[in-house]
Amino acid sequence: MNFTLSEEQQMLVAMIRDLGEKEKFRELAKKVDETCEFPMHLLPLYANLGLLGMTLSPEYGGGGQPLINAVLAIEELAKFSPMIAAPVFESSVGPIKAVDILGTETQKQKLIPGACSGKYSVSAAMTEPEAGSDLTSLTSNAIENGNYYVLNGRKCFITGGGHASHYLVYTRFNQTKGYKGIGCLIAEKGMEGFSFGKQEKFMGLHGMPSCDLIFEDVRIPKENLILKPGEFNRLMATFHIERCGNAAMCLGIAGSALEEARKYASERTAFGKPICEFQAIQFMIADMAMKLDAARLLVYRAAENAGGDLPSIYEASLAKAYANEMVIEVTNLAMQIFGGYGYSSEFPIERMYRDAKAWGVAGGTIQMLKIGIAGILFGKRFNQRS
Ligand SMILES: Cc1cc2nc3c(=O)[nH]c(=O)nc-3n(C[C@H](O)[C@H](O)[C@H](O)COP(=O)(O)OP(=O)(O)OC[C@H]3O[C@@H](n4cnc5c(N)ncnc54)[C@H](O)[C@@H]3O)c2cc1C
Repeated sequence: MNFTLSEEQQMLVAMIRDLGEKEKFRELAKKVDETCEFPMHLLPLYANLGLLGMTLSPEYGGGGQPLINAVLAIEELAKFSPMIAAPVFESSVGPIKAVDILGTETQKQKLIPGACSGKYSVSAAMTEPEAGSDLTSLTSNAIENGNYYVLNGRKCFITGGGHASHYLVYTRFNQTKGYKGIGCLIAEKGMEGFSFGKQEKFMGLHGMPSCDLIFEDVRIPKENLILKPGEFNRLMATFHIERCGNAAMCLGIAGSALEEARKYASERTAFGKPICEFQAIQFMIADMAMKLDAARLLVYRAAENAGGDLPSIYEASLAKAYANEMVIEVTNLAMQIFGGYGYSSEFPIERMYRDAKAWGVAGGTIQMLKIGIAGILFGKRFNQRS
């Protein structure tokens, strides 16, 4: 077992730290939070540095790097803010990775080069107003008609909604009931009958586009079929790559909150001495470090063991669920250490706390992950319906 980053990985992390200083990412994070505008100018910058499509296949312009490298890059960038890490997340562990793994030759040639240059971005559209955790109840439906599928339905909370060029739409086919009827199609922005709802206003992750997708008799060519019904499990297996990226976001936010709190505790005085001299503060800082490091080990293990392939469902689920809980606890403790100033938007801690809350819902809730973990431990699938 080796717990040390390779020379190449250390260089990647150092490059991102330097980039953050040079491009003033701390100030950018504050601005994005205030203006709610996604930092589009980062796309060409990241593309030039090889930070887009890090894990995608090299034959289509991807970086061909192992998942752990993308996790390291996302963690480092998320220390500034998840919005600053978002383009790397989207292009390296997001739905485009499912195209890389499951797509046809034509789909890969069409989408991957664009994802690596920042021209295209791909969103995953699973959730529906009446089907979130209970995804297999989804009612969007694609009916076969000659060379097309005719898609109808509504998706909600879709990250990248309105901004992404392509959408992996999880849909039922020909009204077939149950998970066996679910497959996946690529919908393209601009297709007739495909429109967007109003942008969500979330408590955190300001600047991240998110909205409903509305499909009204959208004709999707058969060549846009990613996975036919009956292969739902294969589709969901690719999602664990994204779950490692979600957990890496948590590591970044928590790492930054810990560092801010540590610095603040050394500078802020009360009763005539720095508050870091009080044992109650020391215990909070130590708890934060313990939890962050435990999460980091889980996330790195899941990513490292995946190599260039799919992570183990068990390891990725443990990593995501633990990191999702950890980041809320760590940012909460950081706010306490900051006292009244932690609650003020003059300091970054309240933003980190708001951003922290998203990850335990996005990508599958903590509760659903724990149900999956328990299922693996007991060696049986717990039926949630009966
Ligand atoms: C920031 C953000 C980004 C997102 N991005 C996307 C995206 O890009 N694409 C996409 O498709 N979706 C996206 N989502 C949606 C997300 O995947 C869903 O919100 C999530 O799966 C939960 O579904 P729901 O909101 O319908 O909650 P519900 O499924 O209604 O759950 C409500 C609560 O009940 C709990 N619960 C439900 N069933 C059980 C059970 N059997 N046992 C125990 N507890 C249970 C849940 O854990 C949760 O706490 C995003 C959400 C957020 C907040």
